[in-house]
Amino acid sequence: MITNKTLKSSLKALKEFAKKRLADQEIIALDARDECPLEVVRDMCSPDKLGIHLLFLSEEHGGLGGGTFDFYRVCEELARIDLGVATSVFATFLGSDPILFGATPEQKKIWLTRIAEEGLLFAYGATEPDAGSDLGALQSTAERVMEGDQIVGYKINGLKQWISNGGIAGAYTILASTPAGPSWFIVEKGAKGFSHDKPEDKHGIRLSNTAALALDNVYVDADRLVGGVEGQGLIQAQLVFGYTRLMVAAFGLGGGWAALDRAIPYSTKRVQAGAPLSEKQGYTHKLIVPHVARLEAGRAYIEETAERIDAGEGENGKLNTEGAIAKYMATEAGNMAADASIQALGGYGYTHEYMVEKIKRDVRITTIYEGTSEIMEMTISRDRWQLHLKTRGQYYHDQARQLEQLHLTHPNVGANVAALALHALAEVMEKARSARLTRHQHILLRLGELIAYAECAGCLARRAARMAEGKLNEKANTRFDANALAALSRIFAREAALKVSEEGLRWVCAGDGVGDSEMAAFEAGLRLPEIHRAQAGLISDMDRVADVLYNRTAKSVGASA
Ligand SMILES: Cc1cc2nc3c(=O)[nH]c(=O)nc-3n(C[C@H](O)[C@H](O)[C@H](O)COP(=O)(O)OP(=O)(O)OC[C@H]3O[C@@H](n4cnc5c(N)ncnc54)[C@H](O)[C@@H]3O)c2cc1C
Repeated sequence: MITNKTLKSSLKALKEFAKKRLADQEIIALDARDECPLEVVRDMCSPDKLGIHLLFLSEEHGGLGGGTFDFYRVCEELARIDLGVATSVFATFLGSDPILFGATPEQKKIWLTRIAEEGLLFAYGATEPDAGSDLGALQSTAERVMEGDQIVGYKINGLKQWISNGGIAGAYTILASTPAGPSWFIVEKGAKGFSHDKPEDKHGIRLSNTAALALDNVYVDADRLVGGVEGQGLIQAQLVFGYTRLMVAAFGLGGGWAALDRAIPYSTKRVQAGAPLSEKQGYTHKLIVPHVARLEAGRAYIEETAERIDAGEGENGKLNTEGAIAKYMATEAGNMAADASIQALGGYGYTHEYMVEKIKRDVRITTIYEGTSEIMEMTISRDRWQLHLKTRGQYYHDQARQLEQLHLTHPNVGANVAALALHALAEVMEKARSARLTRHQHILLRLGELIAYAECAGCLARRAARMAEGKLNEKANTRFDANALAALSRIFAREAALKVSEEGLRWVCAGDGVGDSEMAAFEAGLRLPEIHRAQAGLISDMDRVADVLYNRTAKSVGASA
């Protein structure tokens, strides 16, 4: 694990590099030309230039040995600079993940050391034209090449679609089916029969190279089979999801904040109806503050999960659902924040020059790649459904009780309202069980969303409490002090409680899960009146957060219309 000092100096070096090499005008021009700045990407990943890639690699393989928490901080910063360039840097780590998690020690030594020392760019070749969310539909094949009874190599055939770094990588991990099942292979650029298409003309992340790959009888030696055992590919892919999805969550966070950090200063200068927009509550409380609360809820979940992965809890994909929750919350929040930022800049926001429309196009990818939001909803819901069943419906009631305890020692972090969200969630899930509502896929997926909101509300309350105690991770983002974080937590907890109870009630009714005679008891179980009453104080909390964001001492911002 690197020290906080090393992390800070890496983040500083990254910002300075970006200032020199990726100024706004340069990014706008590259975006318009749909061009990946290959030299910039190479310099970022070159040991004698910026060398940011070294943070992601272990000391054993020539890197600095950063942990998950460090990667999250770097990924957020990369995304704030440009999500296309961030994707290019990240693709090398995605591409080498099957090696990191599944390769033999010899393979690790060769390939990870080459990344560290040569800045070798990797690409991750899983998706195919007909196998996206469902990788089980994989059609690429790897046929054994035998000498006597010994496997000496493989012949790979197939097509890969939407591969980041597809046209610029020096090496690729390719998922293909062997006789014993899907397996990862390392294929080098220039291998006979291996080609890539021209870069895709994309909606966003236009500074990243995305290309289709074709493998026509590409021969690789047997030592290019990752891990040396066939049939481990999907397991190896699963092992890394907790961690890789957390990094895309950090991209959503960085993208969302990059947009808001343009909208916030803009609104202090833009005068309409006699006062800056920043002084208009109808503006800040719609276009800025709720997005900050959702992004910070996503951050709380990212940080908590990163700490757990660094503590060794994520072994064998054990925190994949947490990675999915973090990704879902932070990328959806990032997307909404960027959209609101266009609105916040009005007509200027709709032009290239002001950047927010580009950030919006860029951040849009984060709800698609590394598993779409709908796949995240399914992953979250299926896993937590099992926990609901195993605990006989107590899983979320227990979490709520823990937050009620937290409320006793920290009465201002919104833990009591987050507890209401979790109790309501437990009630909705129990009704879904007794009425067998998860046979409707739509309800199963909507539950995934409600779970993400309720869990993030609890997590943000815990983060605010830790902040108040001065016990936040020393590497944590500290943009908000304890009071501001507590206000953000109260804002988000209110949203989560209302959403879980009202949408939960809606979907239970929509699936005919509650009869007229049971309705009153079900509504009482959701504690709707308490949740409605808990909305009291929301406006003053939003005022408080706006004051913090705009660096002003508390005053009423509602007066100016
Ligand atoms: C710019 C870019 C870069 C990428 N980089 C890489 C890369 O480096 N390596 C790589 O391997 N892949 C990469 N991808 C692929 C990416 O991971 C896939 O696009 C993504 O997983 C979705 O697959 P798909 O596009 O086939 O969509 P589909 O799986 O066809 O999904 C289409 C829609 O249907 C929904 N859907 C799918 N299945 C279900 C279901 N069972 N129930 C309900 N709804 C469902 C999805 O949520 C989505 O809304 C990249 C994609 C893009 C666009």
